[in-house]
Amino acid sequence: LSAPTRTLYTYSESARIFTEAKELMPGGVSSPVRAFKSVGGSPIVFDRVKGSKAYDVDGNTYIDYVGTWGPAIIGHADDKVLEEVKKTMDKGTSFGAPCVLENELAKMVIDAVPSVEMVRFTNSGTEACMGMLRLCRAYTSREKIVKFEGCYHGHADSFLVQAGSGVATLGLPDSPGVPASSTKSTLCATYNDVGSVEELLKEGDVAALILEPVVGNSGFIKPTKEFLQGCRDLCDKYGTLLVFDEVMTGFRVAYGGAQAYFGVTPDVTTMGKVIGGGMPVGAYGGRRDIMDLVAPAGPMYQAGTLSGNPLAMTAGIETLKVLKQPGQHDKLEAASKKLVDGILAHAKANGHAATGGYAGGMFGFFFCEGPVTCFADAAKADMEKFGRWHAGMLERGIYLAPSSYEAGFMSLAHTDEDIEKTLEIAGEVMAMI
Ligand code: PLP
Repeated sequence: LSAPTRTLYTYSESARIFTEAKELMPGGVSSPVRAFKSVGGSPIVFDRVKGSKAYDVDGNTYIDYVGTWGPAIIGHADDKVLEEVKKTMDKGTSFGAPCVLENELAKMVIDAVPSVEMVRFTNSGTEACMGMLRLCRAYTSREKIVKFEGCYHGHADSFLVQAGSGVATLGLPDSPGVPASSTKSTLCATYNDVGSVEELLKEGDVAALILEPVVGNSGFIKPTKEFLQGCRDLCDKYGTLLVFDEVMTGFRVAYGGAQAYFGVTPDVTTMGKVIGGGMPVGAYGGRRDIMDLVAPAGPMYQAGTLSGNPLAMTAGIETLKVLKQPGQHDKLEAASKKLVDGILAHAKANGHAATGGYAGGMFGFFFCEGPVTCFADAAKADMEKFGRWHAGMLERGIYLAPSSYEAGFMSLAHTDEDIEKTLEIAGEVMAMI
């Protein structure tokens, strides 16, 4: 029962552009989850973004909790970031040669992230995870990896096993085209279940245990501290490298990532999103003795034409400068808490089963009874109700990730007023779904 004064959004121009896009690109998008398949309806075509807001081609304004899937942690199109990127751009868009900006961002990452003593930049999180995997295999001379059901580590063949997120959203068990030979060495354990990890590690030959240290690709799932510490202890016991995939959590749940938030240090870390400030980026880093294997310091080959690109380095540096100021992650966490607590209160008041959580600038909730501790729990949430919730929020100006299997992202640009408006609308929508 929407407020009588509220005019619901319409999306005719978005629909027109998306209809054309479907003829030009598979599913009309450059990345599957953008197509809104799991929530029904048709995606919104953005015209521009600024601060906490996104503006679509029909002239509608949204409070945006997707934040370009994580990078926009200080808000979209920050003036200072844009100014510095423009200055860098005047010197050229890509060097394909060393540039001092790489040193600057590398120092910032090494200073911030406890496990990282050296870093290699890539162009995406997928590339970072691919490089990291090869590195772990090279270092240990072992072949198998253990990942968790519902954790996503990019779209490389070896990781497309029970990969959550877009894959789960589309109901694909695994992707066709991935050779069995690529996934036969990938074993899957259950998140927050240390026993399931030991079962696999004790079989031997496991190069790496890789996890999202807070899951964002099965919806938002927090680990217990004991689980992360248990993974650390088991890796030490079996000589397996512990890898935190912090592509999403890095610099988001805390300045030093989830490893700083929980006080558990992995051997190797992958990063992306925030460290590129909205430009294409990824990175992997870890102990010096491990990173020394990466070419040309060592024999493990991995490369990239645009890696360490000056534009991405600049956007990353300026974003981290803002984030590093004291109290920023407390602000993010307080805002995430206010939003999630408010949504859960509205859900409860309207008789919906719901559970949720937050860490720093990352949050989520499910339409089911809690606790949700692993992918199987997340899969029990009411996806149809989520679809109705999503559509109701969208047509009232709140842009949420179009899948129950995705986390939400808070930014420093979100004001109290944004959150209060979101909660007022959440109350209206919870009453009608
Ligand atoms: N790892 C995690 C935890 C992610 O969330 C993602 C993307 O969402 C990736 C890896 C892949 O990163 P990219 O999309 O930049 O390739």
